[in-house]
Amino acid sequence: MSRNVSVPLVLTLAVLVAFYPAPSPAQPPRRSPTSHPPAVVLRPARVFDGVAAEPRVGWVVVVEDGKIAAAGPAADLKIPEGARSIELPGMTLMPGMIDCHSHVLLHQYDEASWEDQVLKEPLALRVARATNHLRADLLAGFTTLRDLGTEGAGYADVGLKQAVEQGIIPGPRLLVATRAIVATRTYAPSGFAPELQIPQGAEEADGESLRRVARDQIGRGADVVKIYADNAQGATFSADEIKVVVEVARLAGRPVAAHATTRPGMLNAANAGVATIEHGDGGDAEVFQLMARRGVALCPTLTINEALGRVRGEEGNGVAGSPRLAKATLALREALKAGVTIINGSDVGPFRHGEGGRELQLMVEAGMPAPDALRAATSVAARVLKVDDKVGAIKPGLLADLIAVEGDPTRDIAAVRRVRLVLKEGTPHREP
Ligand SMILES: [Zn+2]
Repeated sequence: MSRNVSVPLVLTLAVLVAFYPAPSPAQPPRRSPTSHPPAVVLRPARVFDGVAAEPRVGWVVVVEDGKIAAAGPAADLKIPEGARSIELPGMTLMPGMIDCHSHVLLHQYDEASWEDQVLKEPLALRVARATNHLRADLLAGFTTLRDLGTEGAGYADVGLKQAVEQGIIPGPRLLVATRAIVATRTYAPSGFAPELQIPQGAEEADGESLRRVARDQIGRGADVVKIYADNAQGATFSADEIKVVVEVARLAGRPVAAHATTRPGMLNAANAGVATIEHGDGGDAEVFQLMARRGVALCPTLTINEALGRVRGEEGNGVAGSPRLAKATLALREALKAGVTIINGSDVGPFRHGEGGRELQLMVEAGMPAPDALRAATSVAARVLKVDDKVGAIKPGLLADLIAVEGDPTRDIAAVRRVRLVLKEGTPHREP
């Protein structure tokens, strides 16, 4: 990660360049056409299809060739011959959940601080851990993650995404951001002697260099461009600078996700036309009205607020125990009042992977009806992330990313923590 490239390294690279042909673009090799298992018929107590608030009782769902072939009352469906039945008594079948804000290359801060992870952990160690994180998140019912920054681990998310796509490791489908963009000297690690060059947790850029850095990250595999619009001290980029990134990303068909926790940062990001604002706990009525008008979605990341206080030993669980969570909760309520689109994102990584379901519980505790929290993690998230042609609902033709949870999450949101079945593209990863 160091920017100081040594002379021997340069020579080695020159030799490599001389002997090896020019690299082709980093396209993952096409997966060999694996034969999908025979059709599967899922027979749950009820189906939450990701859209309708009221679950459907007595529905079955047929999965064929990795896709949802049919969904409806058992009597109305033609069950393919030789199909395998999976009985899911007492369970609700629903679309695999989407976490719109994860960090698969971070592990919980009570094991190692963010700074120690960024500065002291070898890249291979971080990648090895990430493979466990991906499995844990998948088995917890998250079949899609939007992973918002490797925090010093370079482009490792691009390789992890390929490993999942090629079936080398189990994991959710990934939309990745690579390094993310910060304004020069506004991120971390910080506080060192000014003459030292300390590797940062994201890539620095400003003014015109934003154009090059955004293009560079997209070229290296970013599905989404993440920019830090502010830090705890206030706005870091101007709205015009963020606009440059939005423009470059739009040309490449990529959305921009803006980290913003302060009012000025949120205003700049919303005015620049980003797709989503992450965290947003400093928002007020005016900011959220602007977001609603401009169609900017909010990813409230309540769980990280609860977890950070707990890791630092300052705070406990729930709104009563955590002033940080209380503030984020108030902001979410304000956003709901203004009609802002809410997507589910937990910021998992700093707290244990596999615990992302906590976010839905906290959204409901903040006042969102359970079906709305479920939609924020399924159909609404899919629409905002522009993957609703593939996932986010139980609808014939979509990929069979399906989970079954014990109980009825539309009435008891804690059911999303009781995942018993996980199918990704029809392949079972967890069965009751
Ligand atoms: Zn984050």
